[in-house]
Amino acid sequence: MLHELDTPITYLPGIGPKRAKLLEAELGIKTWYDLLYTFPYKHIDRSRLYKIRELTTEMPFVQVMGQFLSFEETGEGRRHRLTGHFWDGEMFLDVTWFHGIRYIKQNIKIRKDYILFGRPGVYGGRLSVIHPDLDSPESTTLSAMKMQPYYSTTERMKKAGMTSRSIECFTSSLFSKLTAIPETLPGYIIERLHLMPLDKALHAAHYPTTADELSAANMRLKFEELFFIQLVIMGYARKRQQQRIGQQFTRVGTAFNTFFRHYLPFPLTEAQKRVIREIHADMRSGRQMNRLLQGDVGSGKTLVALMVMLIAVDNGCQTCIMAPTEILAEQHLQTFRNFLRDMPVRVELLTGSIKGKSRKAIEEGLSEGKVNILIGTHAVIEDNVQFQNLGLVIIDEQHRFGVAQRAKLWNKGHIFPHVLVMTATPIPRTLAMTLYGDLDVSIIDELPPGRKPIRTIHIYENQPEQLYRGVVREIEAGHQAYFVFPLVKESEKLDLKNVQDEYVHLQEIFPQYRLSMVHGKMKPAEKDAEMQKFVTGETQILVATTVIEVGVNVPNASVMIIQNAERFGLAQLHQLRGRVGRGAEQSYCILVSNFKLSAETRKRLQIMTETNDGFEIAEADLKLRGPGDLEGTQQSGIAFNLRLANLGRDGQLVQLARDTAAFVLDADPDLQATENTLLHRHLQELRKEHQDWSQIS
Ligand code: ADP
Ligand code: MG
Repeated sequence: MLHELDTPITYLPGIGPKRAKLLEAELGIKTWYDLLYTFPYKHIDRSRLYKIRELTTEMPFVQVMGQFLSFEETGEGRRHRLTGHFWDGEMFLDVTWFHGIRYIKQNIKIRKDYILFGRPGVYGGRLSVIHPDLDSPESTTLSAMKMQPYYSTTERMKKAGMTSRSIECFTSSLFSKLTAIPETLPGYIIERLHLMPLDKALHAAHYPTTADELSAANMRLKFEELFFIQLVIMGYARKRQQQRIGQQFTRVGTAFNTFFRHYLPFPLTEAQKRVIREIHADMRSGRQMNRLLQGDVGSGKTLVALMVMLIAVDNGCQTCIMAPTEILAEQHLQTFRNFLRDMPVRVELLTGSIKGKSRKAIEEGLSEGKVNILIGTHAVIEDNVQFQNLGLVIIDEQHRFGVAQRAKLWNKGHIFPHVLVMTATPIPRTLAMTLYGDLDVSIIDELPPGRKPIRTIHIYENQPEQLYRGVVREIEAGHQAYFVFPLVKESEKLDLKNVQDEYVHLQEIFPQYRLSMVHGKMKPAEKDAEMQKFVTGETQILVATTVIEVGVNVPNASVMIIQNAERFGLAQLHQLRGRVGRGAEQSYCILVSNFKLSAETRKRLQIMTETNDGFEIAEADLKLRGPGDLEGTQQSGIAFNLRLANLGRDGQLVQLARDTAAFVLDADPDLQATENTLLHRHLQELRKEHQDWSQIS
């Protein structure tokens, strides 16, 4: 059934084929619906004039009426600026321009009335507005004052003469033509949460009469976006809980107990004990486990993984753990074998580089049930590896492993194996509720005792001598150091050259020490050999790209130097830093950057120097960048086409959406009640649009 909202935009006055093409190419607007849901990025409150004494830096764009009494031009080159002293009859306000100065001097008159639009801020310690819009009061008839919408436009649109104003005209004629906008939420939800009805909210999102009305409209629209996502995720999670029969691991037997009593090298932290109990309770329940294990870098997730794997072994099942990189898989093998020593548990490694006879032997061991624990990379496990009786899969993640990929694993056993996903770094709660909303969550919120917080220092790249002296001091004290360089995404060749050049350079600087090097282009055997040299202490310095980012564990290393730190995201920096501070010694992380830093980058590096807490960093990251940019959200298996909601800023709404979805599903799990017809229908449409949603379980 074609709805009015599916009408092509050419059915609006002023939009011919040419403009329609431009709108589609630049903003993806094809139909009335698309236009309706293309929201202004800001509104300017023209509904009132402010006095300068009322202005605060928390305010959005505001308007003030007054006159310039004088101008003052100062500085040269990049410091060149023009400051106007704007007087509203009561007080002065500084108005500053950094470019377009000539135009302002020629066109803006002294002692003439202007209406100034801008965002109050502080500049040079004084309240000021930078680069405001200026209008003369004659051109703005006061009766036309309202909340004026501003729409994004692109360069190409501007060239073709299509401005924010043009879009305002289109939306305004759209509203005059639309006969009805059908409601998408049932009345009882709207009433319960005091939400604005959809038609009113959509109108107010474009043309609010007051700031309060705008925020109520936004809240309704954001809620709806988040609510439907939660409804889908929770719907599937509940189905899974009802239907999926899991292997029942009732026994805690010889393997676990022997390990716990005789092989464990240190006491478990309380948090480790608690999560092992939570995981065991799941695996014993008879239902398939789908659990997320969160813990900060260095909190001891690997050991937890090993111990719950031993429970699976005790119950006659095979188990596998998947690592994001070969280096890490290798390391898990070492770690597990060291931990287990002579225990009769067979641990094997399978990666892309294990071929021929040895691969065949392992594959046979797996299909005959002789291999108890398999360690592999994601790629390998996704292939046709056959187990005899796979009972538990652990995913040690780097990038978020897609929901669809997770689903693939479950086809490997006769009964679905239990699944435990371990995050490499903490993720914020609101994001977890959405990315991993289908999983139950366990959190390790405690580090093993005796760890000293890592000291993090940010320096600029033009003063390396001090840095090198520090490195020498640490190595002379018997420690080791990492030098990490960013990957150059644009060119692998260039990237390789980078690391190799730096390697040679560092060899010249530290002729007295031995260096290892690892990068992504090396053959696995070579990489492994270089890594081993560093692990055994034969080399003192490891020069690497981010291949070492996740999980590498060399407790004797006490210095992490991150070059071009401005090129890394917060999660990555935190991961890299987590490679040191694993022993009892004081460790250091040195962030080396160039001078030119954007405000956001500066903030990022500052956060790193201020806290070691991964959960805090994850929250800050989400606020700073928004979830769209967070590593891995693209591959998460859920397309976040959030137009308005922001998982970073709208945490409370995410919670409200989740609670409401739970409330709805508690009363009507299959959405069969007449009052939920709307929800049922809308969900079906969404599932058609997002194929990947149907794979969530
Ligand atoms: P992550 O959670 O980042 O994967 P790891 O599992 O690599 O952390 O553990 C970090 C280090 O802490 C390892 O050297 C590990 O052996 C050690 N460790 C783990 N649990 C404990 C504990 N309860 N007490 C002391 N050290 C521990
Ligand atoms: Mg780890």
